[in-house]
Amino acid sequence: MNLHEYQGKELLNSFGVRIQRGIVADSSEKAVEAAKQLSEETGTGWWVVKAQIHAGGRGKGGGVKLAKSLEEIASISNDIIGMMLITPQTPPEGKFVNQVLVAEDVYYPGDNEPEEYYMSVLLNRATSKNMIMYSTEGGMDIEAVAENTPHLIFTEEIDPLLGLLPFQARKIAFNLGLSGGAMKEMVKFVTSLYTAYVKSDASLFEINPVLKTSDDKILAVDSKVTLDDSALFRHKDLAELRDLREERAIEVEANEAGLNYVDLDGNVGCMVNGAGLAMSTMDLIKQSGGEPANFLDVGGTADAKRVELAFRLILKDPNVKAILVNIFGGIVRCDRVAQGVIDAFKNMGDAINVPIIVRLQGTNAVEAKQLLDDSGVDLISATEFQEAADKVQEVLSK
Ligand code: GDP
Ligand code: MN
Repeated sequence: MNLHEYQGKELLNSFGVRIQRGIVADSSEKAVEAAKQLSEETGTGWWVVKAQIHAGGRGKGGGVKLAKSLEEIASISNDIIGMMLITPQTPPEGKFVNQVLVAEDVYYPGDNEPEEYYMSVLLNRATSKNMIMYSTEGGMDIEAVAENTPHLIFTEEIDPLLGLLPFQARKIAFNLGLSGGAMKEMVKFVTSLYTAYVKSDASLFEINPVLKTSDDKILAVDSKVTLDDSALFRHKDLAELRDLREERAIEVEANEAGLNYVDLDGNVGCMVNGAGLAMSTMDLIKQSGGEPANFLDVGGTADAKRVELAFRLILKDPNVKAILVNIFGGIVRCDRVAQGVIDAFKNMGDAINVPIIVRLQGTNAVEAKQLLDDSGVDLISATEFQEAADKVQEVLSK
């Protein structure tokens, strides 16, 4: 689950990480109110208005703008709220902006040496350790830095049992070229950042840029936070931050029904029980020349209700030209699944407008195939995995 920049910053701040302060607003009137509230406390007089969407590169797409007066706050936020913001990380049509973050301008006027760093915390699966990646080359595309000047990206591996040790925090500050007060600030910044990462069960923190002001303050100007979905049950407060508007409607619907669904670009819908079988089903479809339209694990109980729900979800995708049902009956009996498929099929009538290939294997597979073949419904049954994939290709090429 991803957080918005403003939510991520609040999370960081609650662990003592210094941030660029800001207030979120969903109308230009509220944006002006937010700006007034901020200037009373900081007094720089300027602000930045930042589109809140789940995608980076907003600066380049016109989603981050400096405002030097309340009139500018109003006009800029009026422009940004409600726009389709296109960045290198959004879908081609862009993402709808529901709200902006009005933040204090932390690039002091006349400050000719603000330093921008890059810093992220993530899991290195290869070594089973957390790591902090950081660079002096912040504020820009970190992928480009990795490509052109990889020696400017540092990594610090952290033993999860020992945690971030003080010498490691100092090494990071040193490698960023800091000394004196700025070094102390950075040590504090990194230490609290790492604590926040561990305590919130995050899987990614990316702060780009981390800013050093001319008076040696270190603060997070941006935040990208990804939380581990499997740990959300431990963080009810964080789970509530989910913004469903940012997620694909079809995946949200599947999620609510307890189905494991991931939308893909192909034309063959898949309904499978078990994640491993679902993965190999997708592989086989691809190997046989097709493209999977989705990943869907219907889980252990493939009864008529669930099968129907799964069919309806798959058919919401207009690209789907055939559906492959691939069920292995281990605990679940194939004949029960077959009955579920038949019932769902009869129930849905005309709603099913593409050929359906059903392969059932395992407990009572023979009875299941008999049921399907005798049912009188327009299904194509198969026994072998490859046979099923071939039948999919057959109907696609018609
Ligand atoms: P991103 O483009 O989605 O990564 O959004 P960021 O939050 O990183 O903002 C983009 C850029 O806007 C940053 O790299 C900064 O250079 C600039 N920026 C952010 N905050 C301020 C600010 O307070 N004042 C000024 N002048 N520029 C800012
Ligand atoms: Mn950024």
